[in-house]
Amino acid sequence: MQENIIIAASEAQSHRHSIGRSTWQQQLSHAIRDPQTLCERLRLNRDWLAGAQVGHELFEVCVPEAYLKRIAYADINDPLLRQVIPLGEEALTPAGYVVDPLEEADHRPAKGLIHKYAGRVLLIASPNCAINCRYCFRRHFPYSDNSPSRAQWQEALDYLRNDTTIHEAILSGGDPLAASDRQLAWLVEQLESIPHLKRLRIHTRLPVVIPDRVDDALLGWLASTRLQKVVVLHINHANEIDQAVVDACTNLKQAGATLLNQSVLLRDVNDSTATLAALSERLFEAGILPYYLHVMDPVQGAAHFDVPDEEARALVAKLRDYLPGFLMPRLVREIPGKGSKTPL
Ligand code: SF4
Repeated sequence: MQENIIIAASEAQSHRHSIGRSTWQQQLSHAIRDPQTLCERLRLNRDWLAGAQVGHELFEVCVPEAYLKRIAYADINDPLLRQVIPLGEEALTPAGYVVDPLEEADHRPAKGLIHKYAGRVLLIASPNCAINCRYCFRRHFPYSDNSPSRAQWQEALDYLRNDTTIHEAILSGGDPLAASDRQLAWLVEQLESIPHLKRLRIHTRLPVVIPDRVDDALLGWLASTRLQKVVVLHINHANEIDQAVVDACTNLKQAGATLLNQSVLLRDVNDSTATLAALSERLFEAGILPYYLHVMDPVQGAAHFDVPDEEARALVAKLRDYLPGFLMPRLVREIPGKGSKTPL
């Protein structure tokens, strides 16, 4: 890989671009969405372009400026870049890697709603993401069939009203925070009118990718709901947590949210004990508790990120030598049809 880098590694350094005072929506609309611009902005060798184009045609590249500025120049091995750069390998179709690895298609009783586990349901609040992670298990998800309008949400809301065993609604996506605050405030208002619902969980990467997403409008509806709030962030490497992310997390906590993190164990991103230990330490500094470390779901296009279970177990066993118990993420795999995540 090294020979493909046009600038010597010693010259590589983090770069800081000003993103001015633009809103999160403007930042999202200006995200980099083509491999050529990504390679040029990061001064990568043009040799990467052909493969990047192949991956991009399978799953569009999307990297906002606020995330880009945390990536080192001219370093194809940068752990944040590895998560977002499309590669030719994504066209490979090894046995066992499929388009719907969690078989979610079997658990959709209403448009926009996935009910897999007892007591909680997942609502697909937005089909969009602020970043396209190459290992995403929903990279082939049919979002166009599962993005309800307000009127269409009624079916999902009725399902929730009629099942008193459901105590928690999980906003998911895409990234649920890619929806507008007007839409989210409306949806949360509908949810809190259901008496047996106690908790609102939000699975999001947006406060990490574009920290300005955590603005007054978001904090307003979040702080005012009667539901207990849990925000589950998705951070895979300590370098993803800059000061802007820390500030966004502080604001989420002040709005009453408990902050947890789930990571995915990824080859050439975070597959070392030192990297995972640094991630847990940095998460805690930002007020976030490590929750899950997922082995990757076998989604087509992402096999090159795979870390075998035995290696994952050995890494986590070693991690216990470095971290107190409360900073240890739980190593899990999601197995279709099981009633919960499966510890490894
Ligand atoms: S933010 Fe989450 S849902 Fe969106 S591409 Fe990344 S992993 Fe997938």
